[in-house]
Amino acid sequence: MATYAIFRHGSNANNQPRTETLCVAVVEATTRAKATAAAEAEESFSCYVNQHLEAIPWSRLNAEQREEADEVIRENYELLPAGAVSCLLCGADSTAEMPAYRAPNYLCESCR
Ligand SMILES: [Zn+2]
Repeated sequence: MATYAIFRHGSNANNQPRTETLCVAVVEATTRAKATAAAEAEESFSCYVNQHLEAIPWSRLNAEQREEADEVIRENYELLPAGAVSCLLCGADSTAEMPAYRAPNYLCESCR
């Protein structure tokens, strides 16, 4: 599982005025295509005809992009307390707090 920052390209007065590229989400996924698909499925990241979403692996973000993605995490994802999330495979409760974007794909230490 890897972390991807989702960027929406294309300025549009309806959701992204005067901004060519905007980080809209951070997701956990196994592939870039799945990360993009997960973001596309979210209504809040909808695109107009002149826009598209791009998933960039966290490790490939430049300093500016990483700052923007960190900001998205701080603003849009609550921190879930330990025990709030269950492992996908064995159902064990999480042992540490984690940002909510990570919850859908949570695997415990022994299942990873
Ligand atoms: Zn597990």
